[in-house]
Amino acid sequence: MITIAGAGVAGLASAYELASRGANVLVYERASSPSDNPCSWFAGGMLARWCEGETAASEIVHLAGGAIDWWRQFTKVETRGTLVVCPPRDQPELRRFARRTKRHTLLGAQQLAALEPALEGRYNQALFFEDEAHLDPRQALVDLTRAVQRLGVEIRYDTPAPDSVDVDCRGMASDLIGLRPVRGEMVMIEAPDVTLTRTIRMLHPRSPVYLVPRGDGVYMIGATMIETSSTRPITLRSTMELLGSAFALHPGLAEASVIETSIGLRPAFADNVPRLTQTGTTTHVNGLFRHGFLVAPALAGQLAAQFFPEEFNANHSEQRTA
Ligand SMILES: Cc1cc2nc3c(=O)[nH]c(=O)nc-3n(C[C@H](O)[C@H](O)[C@H](O)COP(=O)(O)OP(=O)(O)OC[C@H]3O[C@@H](n4cnc5c(N)ncnc54)[C@H](O)[C@@H]3O)c2cc1C
Repeated sequence: MITIAGAGVAGLASAYELASRGANVLVYERASSPSDNPCSWFAGGMLARWCEGETAASEIVHLAGGAIDWWRQFTKVETRGTLVVCPPRDQPELRRFARRTKRHTLLGAQQLAALEPALEGRYNQALFFEDEAHLDPRQALVDLTRAVQRLGVEIRYDTPAPDSVDVDCRGMASDLIGLRPVRGEMVMIEAPDVTLTRTIRMLHPRSPVYLVPRGDGVYMIGATMIETSSTRPITLRSTMELLGSAFALHPGLAEASVIETSIGLRPAFADNVPRLTQTGTTTHVNGLFRHGFLVAPALAGQLAAQFFPEEFNANHSEQRTA
């Protein structure tokens, strides 16, 4: 029996990778359901490996390699790419973003309008990251929970983990040295009259934001990264910045209804790179920062390699002889 603490994206991905190799897995979850989750539930759901490369370490871009295919096993993934735009006065920002990232195409106004008609006439240029995707993180967590349970994993909700577990995926609740919270705030809006079909990042020197479509006219807007452990509700300033950027992206969004505001504390190490850490007999999967959905599959794979080294060694030597 392998015991795991936490059923956020790290714990569920770990449970899946272990159970699919035949392990008997038991997950303890302090909350009462996936929606009672302190961080994963509030994510944007961007699988935006190349855009994240603008600021993230190269390890993140590497770890994110198989994420889109991994999530497709259980849940709907929209493979429509990411658009990056910025107001004409901030064009140097777009050029800077392009220099710092890979795998993008520079679009002119007509190409942009063909791709995303709602943005016709609004921007002269945009960057298109065709290989990126997004998912609905809430649906993805529910679908992954079901997939894990189908493999025979028991998830004990409303049950704090015992003092000793084999795998610790408690996010910010972990007592790992060096872990810090980076607060992220989000606003959810419903705008049935504006149709945007892919993730859009709006560059701004002070407050870049992103908008992720959730379907049926619902959009998640997020971006803030604040070094604090405060769990108080979203501030007025963040709300104004997020909604102001949405309005700047498309004036039609001014008529949107605000249907939710939330915050989450992202668990991060000093270098913002996630990792497996050993304390005694416990392996910690933590530090997923703003890349939980992107990197959880790869980290869970590393964890499985630790528990099933023979299988991974056999695969490795098969690949070498092939
Ligand atoms: C606003 C926002 C937007 C984001 N957007 C994206 C995005 O677009 N793409 C992306 O890849 N990532 C994104 N992220 C990051 C992602 O959400 C995190 O990296 C990820 O959720 C961290 O997952 P986790 O499983 O480590 O932690 P958590 O989700 O916090 O899970 C930890 C779990 O452990 C449980 N737990 C705690 N203590 C105990 C205990 N004692 N016993 C048992 N269980 C316990 C908790 O209840 C929780 O369910 C975003 C985050 C935020 C806040």
